[in-house]
Amino acid sequence: MSAPHTVGFKTGERNIFLHLLTACNLSCAHCYINPREHGSSMLTREQLASWIRLFHDPAKESNIVFLGGEPTMHPDLVYGIEVAKSCGYAVTVDTNGYLFHDFLERVTPDHLDYLSFSLDGPDPEINDPIRGEGVFGVCTANLKKAVDRGISTSLIYTVSSRNIDGLERMVPLLKELGVKRFFIQVIGLRGKSATSAKSDETPLQVDPNRWLEVVPMVAEEVSRQGITVIYPKVFLDKTEIFECAGNVAENFFIFPNGRVYQCPLCEDYPIHSYEIRNDKLVKVEGLTEERFFKLDIAEGCVMNKLLQPDTIVYDDSGEPVHRVSCCLLKQRLEK
Ligand code: SF4
Ligand code: SF4
Repeated sequence: MSAPHTVGFKTGERNIFLHLLTACNLSCAHCYINPREHGSSMLTREQLASWIRLFHDPAKESNIVFLGGEPTMHPDLVYGIEVAKSCGYAVTVDTNGYLFHDFLERVTPDHLDYLSFSLDGPDPEINDPIRGEGVFGVCTANLKKAVDRGISTSLIYTVSSRNIDGLERMVPLLKELGVKRFFIQVIGLRGKSATSAKSDETPLQVDPNRWLEVVPMVAEEVSRQGITVIYPKVFLDKTEIFECAGNVAENFFIFPNGRVYQCPLCEDYPIHSYEIRNDKLVKVEGLTEERFFKLDIAEGCVMNKLLQPDTIVYDDSGEPVHRVSCCLLKQRLEK
């Protein structure tokens, strides 16, 4: 088995994260959707086609991820996938597993590069208090159906203090379900997690040492089963160079109210780089996230330092012990 390798930012690649709507049938504890900033609208069928084409660059390897809210609640999702495929995008749909509008009956393996399911526990006892009563059963049953239909599937597990102890038990479940890729995410201080961090509730954030103790070990175990594992880098080694994706990569996080961000950590604030106005991409003037990307600090990611300073440990001379990497920098492990 190979060692985990860092997936650097690729020039010539463009990643589009298109939120079709913000509505969802679930109400997860760590949901990052923030209606105050992202609105409550849904793209029209015309906007859907137009925005997909707007972001396509034929000179680049282009990936599109359809998101929500719950994207399968959008009645024109399959149409959107067809438009994206005809442009040449690699297509992923991120779902909570409910698959509305007979989604599975209306797509074939040719429509999708990956159908990605979110699950936050190896059993209902861990998953359902986070994602909702009965969600584990529905999500795993639909994931199995998708695999039976020949669709390549991924599973996303958002690690928080409430489910880190269940991560290891995902190994046999992933194998049993026939999942091809496993994404381990770190809980972010965004949306509802940010609200709970400010309240008296138990914080969802995971202690950095606990993360380093558990995540690489489980990732290795999963990859031994022949499943590709992708997880955030979080801390940079001394010899590694810090890069902010906002400066060196092309990622666009698009919301139905027309806001376009380049950094997911900025999504709770009105500091987006662009807006879509009349189906055209317009650069926003004034204080935007791009000003932060240019700041060079010893701690690495500027937004992490601003939003979650508690994650940074300093030595006696006041220097940070670790630099925090860009949240978009991943490690990949495969057999
Ligand atoms: S499924 Fe996704 S969009 Fe829906 S509540 Fe959960 S985290 Fe939020
Ligand atoms: S997470 Fe940090 S390093 Fe990455 S794009 Fe955002 S500000 Fe830049």
